[in-house]
Amino acid sequence: MGLRGFGVCVAIGTALLTASGFAAEHADGTGAILVYHRFGLTAGSTTVSDAALDEQLAWLAAYVRVAPLRSVLDALGKRAHSSDRPCVAITADDGHQSIYTDLYPRILRYRLPVTLFIYPSAISNAQYALTWPELTEMVASGLVDVQSHTYWHPNFEHEKARRSPADYRAFVDTQLVRSKTVLETRIGRKVDMLAWPFAIYDQELESAAVKAGYTAGFILGNRAVRPDTDRLALPRFWVSDSDRAARLAARLATACPVQTQMKR
Ligand SMILES: [Zn+2]
Repeated sequence: MGLRGFGVCVAIGTALLTASGFAAEHADGTGAILVYHRFGLTAGSTTVSDAALDEQLAWLAAYVRVAPLRSVLDALGKRAHSSDRPCVAITADDGHQSIYTDLYPRILRYRLPVTLFIYPSAISNAQYALTWPELTEMVASGLVDVQSHTYWHPNFEHEKARRSPADYRAFVDTQLVRSKTVLETRIGRKVDMLAWPFAIYDQELESAAVKAGYTAGFILGNRAVRPDTDRLALPRFWVSDSDRAARLAARLATACPVQTQMKR
């Protein structure tokens, strides 16, 4: 995807880059999945400032191949050393209102696809959260995909500790199935990807997710996804306010081909 209306092209100058214009390492079909939470005028522990977001999205649109999350997963292990290989996916968890007010206008400007991991109990309910019409509008843009973050974002460790084994299993199933069902009914698209709340997962939860119809699960973790990564526990790079262009370039160079020159 090209970028229009930008100024001069600049080299980003990281040691990992070769004369061919792509990162020398990581030619083995890896990918990078980014995760955001909230946006606003000022940064916080889970909030990226609008100024940083502008800089990050401009850099992503210009220097790496951003693609829908599903495309990045499908491309794992394929076609090394290609700038066309879908390699970076953007996700945002929790359905905070600032996804609509701050992120959405910017992804429209840059034409960048984003996957939102949503827990439906909050939508059109909690004051901080998105509404169903906002989600529907964003999905209709063709740039936004909505996937599951369970039904109400429980801490599965706490729930396991305070429930009987049978009660816990039923609780897990309800969280996984109800979220998928409500989102598919409201949005009208397939939901088969799941971000684990608090990145808590284990073998029992993974089995429940597969049974509920999920084919991919996401956690946190500052590393690339690889063809052999557990598909129910795919790591994502947490993007912070301090990830300005050079720092973002350094982090993603471990996962993806990064162009030395801005795309035209
Ligand atoms: Zn969350």
